Amino acid sequence: MNVHESEKIAGLLMQLGLEESTDDTADVVVFNTCCIRDNAERKAIGQIGRFKQLKRENPDAVIAVVGCMTQQDGAGLALRKKFPFVDIVLGTANLDKIGDLVADCLATHKKHVEIDTDPKPPIVEGLPYYRTSGCNAWINIMYGCNNFCTYCVVPYVRGRERSRRKEDIIDEFRRALDQGYKEVTLLGQNVNSYGNDRGDGYGFADLLQDLAKFDGDHRIRFMTNHPKDMDDRVIDIVADSPNICNNIHLPIQSGSDKILRLMNRHYTRDDYLATIDKIRAKMPDCGITTDLMVGFPYEEESDFEDTLDIVRRVQYSNAFTFVYSPRRGTPAATMPQVPEEVSRRRIMALIAEQNAITRKLSDAYVGGVYRVLCEDIVEKNGKKQLCGRTESGRMVTFDGGEELVGTFCDIKITRSRSASLFGTKV
Ligand code: SAH
Ligand code: SF4
Repeated sequence: MNVHESEKIAGLLMQLGLEESTDDTADVVVFNTCCIRDNAERKAIGQIGRFKQLKRENPDAVIAVVGCMTQQDGAGLALRKKFPFVDIVLGTANLDKIGDLVADCLATHKKHVEIDTDPKPPIVEGLPYYRTSGCNAWINIMYGCNNFCTYCVVPYVRGRERSRRKEDIIDEFRRALDQGYKEVTLLGQNVNSYGNDRGDGYGFADLLQDLAKFDGDHRIRFMTNHPKDMDDRVIDIVADSPNICNNIHLPIQSGSDKILRLMNRHYTRDDYLATIDKIRAKMPDCGITTDLMVGFPYEEESDFEDTLDIVRRVQYSNAFTFVYSPRRGTPAATMPQVPEEVSRRRIMALIAEQNAITRKLSDAYVGGVYRVLCEDIVEKNGKKQLCGRTESGRMVTFDGGEELVGTFCDIKITRSRSASLFGTKV
C-alpha cells in the first residue's frame, strides 16, 4: 500500500517538472512513513534524522514527511518539533496536496503542517501515478479499515473504509492493460468488504468477475483478505477465472481462539480451517500465504502451540511473521505484555517451522514446468539472470535475454532453495 502511495507522490512531483534523483542530493525529499510496528517507525525517524545534514548543505531543499506516522495523535507537531528542518508534514487523508505544498515551499520556503482528521475523507480520482514496479500495476480499490483489530493502528491513521467507484477501478484497470502491464494487484486493507460502504449491492466478487472478463495475456492478484469476510463466491471466481492467480493471502494472525477473540478478529480457528478446505477443494494448487503474530498480550505457551499447529495443518507456501508491537492508542497496548525474550523465542520457533514447510513445498516444484511472468533482471556475482513468479507466487530465477522481461515464459524447475526456485526456459 505504501509503495503504491509513493508512486502517487512521485507522479504528483513529476507534474511539477521534477525528475527522479538517484542519490541523497535531491532538491525535494519526501519520506512516506509507516507506523504499523515500532521498528517501522524507528526506521523512519532514523532516516529523517540523516537528512539534517542535507538541509545544512542545501538550505533550499524541501523535506517533507507524509504517511501514517504523521496521522497519529499529536505526531504532526511533534515531528516538526523533533525535526525543525522538515518543511512539510502531511497526513494520509490529504496526500493529494503534496504537489501544491512542495511547489509553494520551493517558491516561498514557507513551512506547512496539514493533518486532516476526517475519518472519511473523500476519494480523489484522476491523480497521476509514476509506476515503479515493473510489469505489475498496483490498483487501490478501497482505502481505510473498519475492523479495529485490537493491535492495529491502521483504522486510526487511515480512517474508515471508503470504496472507489467500480467505474473508476475498471477504467484504471483497462488503462493499465493498454499501457502494457501484465499483472494487476488489487489493494485494500480488507478487499472482501469492498463496496459495503457504497450500499449498491456491488461487492468484491462482482468486481473480480467484471475484471476477469478482460481478454488478453495478463494476471490479476489481490490483497489483503480478511478471513471473517472471505466468501465462497470469491473462491469460485478465482478458481474459474484463468487470469486470476490461484494465490490467496489469508492472514490468520494466531491459531488460538482465545487470542483471536482478544484481537477482535471475529473468526475461530475452525472457521478459518473450513475456508482453507474450501479453497483447497476448488484449487488444490493454490498458493496460500498468511500473516502471523507472536507475543500478543495473554499469549501462553499453549496458544503459541495452537499457532504452530495451524501452520502445520495449512502448509502455507509462505508467511509473514511478526512479533507483536504495542501501538499507542490501540486497546492491546494497555493489556499485560508478554516478556520480550518469550516473544523472541516464539518467533524463532515459528520461523523455523514455516521455513521447513516453505522448503518442502519448494522442493515439490522441482521437475515441473510452470508459467512464469518474467518481472526483472537480477545480477549476482557479475552474472545477469531473469526473475519472475509462478501463478502461486513462488519466485523463479532463470537464464535469458532482457527482451523476456514483461513476458510469460514456461520454465522447467531444476533446483529449489528455501522460497526460491531456479530453472530453465523450455
Ligand atoms: N489489513 C491487513 C493487514 C495490514 S497490516 C489484514 O488485516 O490482514 C499487515 C500485518 O501487520 C497484519 O496482518 C499483522 O500481522 C501485522 N501487524 C499489524 N499490527 C501489528 C502490531 N501492532 N504488531 C505486530 N504486527 C502487526
Ligand atoms: Fe489492521 Fe485489522 Fe484493519 Fe487489517 S483488518 S488493517 S489488521 S484493523
